[in-house]
Amino acid sequence: MGTLELKGVKKRYPEFTLEIDLSVNEGEFLTIIGPSGSGKSTLLNIIAGLYAPDEGAILLDGRDITSLPPQKRGISMVFQDYALFPSMNVEKNISYAMKIRKVKRSERRRQTDALLSFVNLSGYNRRKVTTLSGGEAQRVALARALSSDPSILLLDEPLSALDASLRRHLRDEVRRIHDENPGVTTIYVTHDREEAFSISDRIAIMNAGHIEMVAGGEEIYNHPNSLFTASFTGEGTSLPAEMFDMDVDADTIFFRPESVTIPQTKFYGDADAYLILEGVKIVSAEFLGSCYLLGLMYEGHRILAESSFRPAEDTMTIYIRKTRLLLFKDGRAVS
Ligand code: ADP
Repeated sequence: MGTLELKGVKKRYPEFTLEIDLSVNEGEFLTIIGPSGSGKSTLLNIIAGLYAPDEGAILLDGRDITSLPPQKRGISMVFQDYALFPSMNVEKNISYAMKIRKVKRSERRRQTDALLSFVNLSGYNRRKVTTLSGGEAQRVALARALSSDPSILLLDEPLSALDASLRRHLRDEVRRIHDENPGVTTIYVTHDREEAFSISDRIAIMNAGHIEMVAGGEEIYNHPNSLFTASFTGEGTSLPAEMFDMDVDADTIFFRPESVTIPQTKFYGDADAYLILEGVKIVSAEFLGSCYLLGLMYEGHRILAESSFRPAEDTMTIYIRKTRLLLFKDGRAVS
């Protein structure tokens, strides 16, 4: 079981207020992303019971756990810096919580072996944690978090200390660990939006102490509810709507780099279906392997565009499909 609800949860600091209403379903993988200082860690620590909210209630499977201490909540947390006990070997780190719960030694050994096998570290029982690589240490931290059989697993930027290829591998592992523990609800904090898109059932975007939008990755990327969500979840260009002769009640248009079409020779298609910008100048071309990311200038505004080739001319006409334009008024999406 692991349905988590935060109802009217508030935490006030002199210069910051967190205000959250959120429901996370049992077995769901929810990722929280947001700029530094938006309140992600504060939120996670409140769920874990390490910080008390000033107002509101936290319910786990309908039960009010707001005043329960961390160890009684059925919630485990994994930190960015692993927070393993340095004086204990791998097995002792993992079995610590079971020992506190007075689980018999033979059963502790059996469960520890199962958890080590589960995180692909069979045979590491006697290794000192100080001799582990970052990836191994984080697997031990995950095994330790699972050893208390939590209904909620909180992961606070667990991969951010690792190098890029290991991060990718371990994020698949984290998802597998989630999937193979049915009923466990995972709440994952990251600042890496690609990681968020790849790993999550839903993503919550945090902005200045509140949740700006919570939805599946495709919904968030393609139909952001605000200019903040649009900009935070990927590259894009904002232009004043008044630059264009469009019959819309919006002050800003926004589009992703991949929504821009740059014809290699001649444009074929229904010109009415496109916003057409003429006299666009190319100012930079960054080769990304699968495409070029072009920096363009149009009437004093910078535009980002993806292209499969590096344009030969300095000045060109670009086409943006109107159905791909996102419209905003006062920062909120206009449908
Ligand atoms: P994030 O994890 O998104 O970077 P945090 O939750 O760490 O954000 O911090 C959110 C805001 O709360 C920040 O502006 C920070 O200064 C403030 N804050 C966090 N903890 C405290 C504290 N103990 N006392 C005062 N302000 C705090």
